[in-house]
Amino acid sequence: MFEIEIKKYLEGHGFEAFKPKAVLFDMDGVLYNSMPYHAVSWHKSMKRFGLDMKPEEAYQYEGMRGVETIKLLARQQWNKEITDEEAANMYEEKSNEFRQCPKAEKMEGVEDLMRKIKADGLKIVVVTGSGQKSLLEKLESEFNGLIHRELLISSFDVKHGKPNPEPYLCGLKKAGIEPWEGIVVENAPLGVRAGVAANIFTVAVNTGPLPQKMLADEGANLIFKDMPSFRDSWDKLKENWVNS
Ligand code: MG
Repeated sequence: MFEIEIKKYLEGHGFEAFKPKAVLFDMDGVLYNSMPYHAVSWHKSMKRFGLDMKPEEAYQYEGMRGVETIKLLARQQWNKEITDEEAANMYEEKSNEFRQCPKAEKMEGVEDLMRKIKADGLKIVVVTGSGQKSLLEKLESEFNGLIHRELLISSFDVKHGKPNPEPYLCGLKKAGIEPWEGIVVENAPLGVRAGVAANIFTVAVNTGPLPQKMLADEGANLIFKDMPSFRDSWDKLKENWVNS
């Protein structure tokens, strides 16, 4: 198990060895079960501007910077190019809506997984496209001893959001590692695309309603149906690189 996937990854990128030293976690839909609230907030707020965004589309566009998503919707539905400023104002409405939602729960199994990762001597990095200050500020205290501010990349650190590889490349740099020394954990198709484009071994955990095929099509190296499944497979995955 996993031997074939690791071999495929190495061959696909022309790397000699897979030696993970850090795991790079996405935030929404990975650390927190926040996506249902984001989906509803997107739908409600865009409706006010006359834009239609079905809750399931929020999952499809997840990972993209909010402003870019709004500009894309305007292009599709209004046939026009809106300014960054207009889009930013509209995004503010979405953020307000999200702030009124109940607090998102931590994803089941993710803290256990992080403890295993830490015990195995790997660093934990968070790479999110979020600019939701309310969530970002609490990360360190909510994942006490597991997440550290200096290993956090948010929308404030990058010019290009996912699916551009920049956020993950920035994560590698902050951790001081090469692509074959990292593992990306993502739930969204565009996030998977970003991890793959950064040449990092990318694990997709399908915590939302999208078909698994969408994650496979973006090139995910491994796909799990939920976080507890990934947690329970961690030791097996580790055996494979330790012995390779
Ligand atoms: Mg996500």
